[in-house]
Amino acid sequence: MSSNILEVKNLKTTFSSRKTSFNAVDGISFHVAKGETLGIVGESGCGKSVTSLSIMGLVKPPGTVSGDKIDFNGVNLLKLSKKEMRNLRGSKMGMIFQEPMTSLNPVYSVGDQIGESLKIHKKLKGKVLKEKVVDLLKQVGIPRPDEIYHNYPHQLSGGMRQRVMIAIAMACDPKLIIADEPTTALDVTIQAQILELMKDLQSKKGMSMILITHDLGVVSEVCDRLVVMYAGKVVETGPVKEVLRNPSHPYTKGLLASLPKKGHKEKRLNFIQGQVPAPINWGNGCRFADRCPYVINECHKSIPALVKVSDSQESACHLAVEGGERVNNDLIETAR
Ligand code: SF4
Repeated sequence: MSSNILEVKNLKTTFSSRKTSFNAVDGISFHVAKGETLGIVGESGCGKSVTSLSIMGLVKPPGTVSGDKIDFNGVNLLKLSKKEMRNLRGSKMGMIFQEPMTSLNPVYSVGDQIGESLKIHKKLKGKVLKEKVVDLLKQVGIPRPDEIYHNYPHQLSGGMRQRVMIAIAMACDPKLIIADEPTTALDVTIQAQILELMKDLQSKKGMSMILITHDLGVVSEVCDRLVVMYAGKVVETGPVKEVLRNPSHPYTKGLLASLPKKGHKEKRLNFIQGQVPAPINWGNGCRFADRCPYVINECHKSIPALVKVSDSQESACHLAVEGGERVNNDLIETAR
């Protein structure tokens, strides 16, 4: 039996119109082990959120999802019908979005919204249903749960609404939670509380989690391993501690250098020059080439493959080789 709850192989999410077609997610592979928290990191436009929507079967037309497999607990999600995916969502897989106000329905009470999937998937009703919902409100740290049960989303603070979203995602004890920037819309102090809550619930319930974020600081707090995405591709993977201590890919190095340092007194932070290119400008080479301080001629000619740089770390850079040496002297001589 596999030790992984999720195995994604060669996932492609394509958006087509009459004039153009591009893969917002372009042949990516990764896995999530049982009980593990995987961070997917990158700037806006790198394909992180599209990846999560593709796994959940929530990509809307004209988007299409293809690939070798999205194996969830032994079932290839690419082969399921819409109805089968609907049954899976909310029962075996839960999702937490960035902005709870747009995900919660303003005209239903908190209790009704948490109870909905319990009614559908667990067939709970009446007193038993209400008790379970109140218990979930307690578990996510909501005070006065009997009273809040009857509240509507607009009556709650941002942090409380996100706790409600977590309760909804967890209601049916899913095996996997996908959280897409769950703390980005919150104040810094509330962010820390929500991350702590998610970490705590995940370890108590033994769930697996994918945490999507642009913030490597968040990843270092919560995740076991990470996948760094850039322009639809995976550019680096590995255990969080290793990657943060010894990043291999120039993009990961740039993200790390952009983090505020403890005791940092200067007003200006480091940042990666330029922007993630639009798919129309991806070309045939490394998509990071226009922003990379190490760029060499080869980078403009071919897309680097993901190669092992240590037992557990992989990097997609022409300068990366097995063992983590920063490479191929012939290529470096041609660097500008
Ligand atoms: Fe930089 Fe070239 Fe590596 Fe891309 S392949 S990250 S451009 S050195």
